[in-house]
Amino acid sequence: MNVLNKEYQQLEEQIQLLNDKWSQQLEAEKLIDIEQVRALTQYPVLPQVQLSIDFQQYHRFIEELLTLLEEKQPSLEADTKALKSRISTKILEQWHPEVLTVHQRYFQAFAEEHHIASWLPYFVAEHAIRPFLQKATAEIRDELKKADVHGCCPACGEAPRLAIINKKGRKEITCPRCHYAWEVKKINCAHCGSEEPGKLEILKVEKDDSAEIHVCHDCNGYTKVIDVRKMIKKDSIALLDIKSIHLDFIAQENGYGMPDDTKVN
Ligand SMILES: [Zn+2]
Ligand SMILES: [Zn+2]
Repeated sequence: MNVLNKEYQQLEEQIQLLNDKWSQQLEAEKLIDIEQVRALTQYPVLPQVQLSIDFQQYHRFIEELLTLLEEKQPSLEADTKALKSRISTKILEQWHPEVLTVHQRYFQAFAEEHHIASWLPYFVAEHAIRPFLQKATAEIRDELKKADVHGCCPACGEAPRLAIINKKGRKEITCPRCHYAWEVKKINCAHCGSEEPGKLEILKVEKDDSAEIHVCHDCNGYTKVIDVRKMIKKDSIALLDIKSIHLDFIAQENGYGMPDDTKVN
């Protein structure tokens, strides 16, 4: 089951290919000072530490993404060109803390000020920062394992909206932003941590036995749970997230949401 139109899905797949290419370019970099991470007393880690990001490189990533967007969606050309002419390495340094904390209103204000489609600056800022988040997260994986948190990804702060059933048959919360993944108990609410019997309800999806929605009667949060063992071709986690958007609709139609949406803002 899939509610997305084909064109949009193809675009997302192409953005994924870009993401993979960018990740390769970052492989040899060291973005994070582990001592800074060890000194922290709370999570999430990435918004609190200084990442060694090469902003010229981030700038290049954003330009490549804007070029892809204008090739695939010629109607966007005026907006992509306007944005290209407005951004500089210096502006992107200012964007950095705002994108790390998912401060969408900041980007909307930027869009309004420069008469650009309101979704575009945040969209490109977020997609182009992800390979940096993923690399930094990979560097501190051992430190993150010590985290005992619920409610957000201990690396980047994203709400725990998505889980897979992994090869071992365990429920594994997986972050589509930074790719950090951690196993939880099946009956555990990833938002508030509740494990009380009867508090977590499993919504099944019609005609799809590989997907469930785990909803919590304590905090009203939900997590999409996808059994990837049943998939022939395993999509990247970001694509799984996008392709399962119908599960978000079902959860939200039933009155569930993201209790911690504003947490890191
Ligand atoms: Zn994350
Ligand atoms: Zn809960």
